[in-house]
Amino acid sequence: MKIINTIEEMQQVSQNERYVQKSIGFVPTMGFLHEGHGTLIREAKKQNEIVVVSIFVNPLQFGPNEDFDAYPRDIARDEAIAKELGVDYLFYPTTEEMYKKNRTTLITVERRVDVLCGKSRPGHFDGVATVVMKLFHIVMPHNAYFGMKDAQQVAVLEGLIADYHLLVNLVRVNTVREEDGLAKSSRNVYLSDQERAVAPFLFQALQKGKNKMLQGEAIPVIKEWIAEFVEENTKAELDYIEILSYPNLEKLDSLEEVDGIIIAIAAKFSKARLIDNLVFSYQKGEQ
Ligand code: AMP
Repeated sequence: MKIINTIEEMQQVSQNERYVQKSIGFVPTMGFLHEGHGTLIREAKKQNEIVVVSIFVNPLQFGPNEDFDAYPRDIARDEAIAKELGVDYLFYPTTEEMYKKNRTTLITVERRVDVLCGKSRPGHFDGVATVVMKLFHIVMPHNAYFGMKDAQQVAVLEGLIADYHLLVNLVRVNTVREEDGLAKSSRNVYLSDQERAVAPFLFQALQKGKNKMLQGEAIPVIKEWIAEFVEENTKAELDYIEILSYPNLEKLDSLEEVDGIIIAIAAKFSKARLIDNLVFSYQKGEQ
């Protein structure tokens, strides 16, 4: 595995790989790799000849009072994991390398961001779209792998790819969970033992909510039930609980007419804000 720190070298490498007709699979991450990332990387390995993983904690997508400084980092461990998984290139730029000159543009996401994390983290998805656009131009992948744990991010990036006619195929990868159902996340290390023990109630709430939907229960009733269930069992502060169409993230009027439905939740524990969701189709009831 080769580690690359500069944009110029990464572009050169990708151009060379493309020149010899190799397909490039790309997994963008913020590091502190876990099995969720591992699954994305294995998927990329299966479908491409070359796999590039980036590790970059993007300041542009963190708000002023968010956890940019406290975000967990361990590059030595990440390198070992990436190598073990058979990654070909690890792109690991500094903040100065990614944003070295005064920026003159910023991508503004106009739809799919007035709800969920877009609503509680203003500007977050502008930062995500901007860095992903840059990374796509640096790595030049054929396929890019994103986890459905961040389902709103997937919806936003599918919009970005369509709007700018990017020649990248986005591959959605299902959420990877701990045995007790908690979605794997780099931020889980910030849960206390007590919080870790109750965190799986988030997923349980989503599953029960989905069942209620499929049984025809009204959306406001389900949302209220989930809020109570989570607050009672976790004592976490609920940031949001929403049931919307997916990927457009609009209010659901008629259940039969939408492609997908998302039930999404965000809850604040003492040192970590956790998100989780279920995306399924009303007809099939499947994720
Ligand atoms: P992050 O490093 O948290 O920015 O995540 C990098 C990529 O890994 C994103 O596409 C995430 O959606 C994905 N990811 C993170 N956690 C999981 C998980 N538990 N299951 C599937 N994908 C995940």
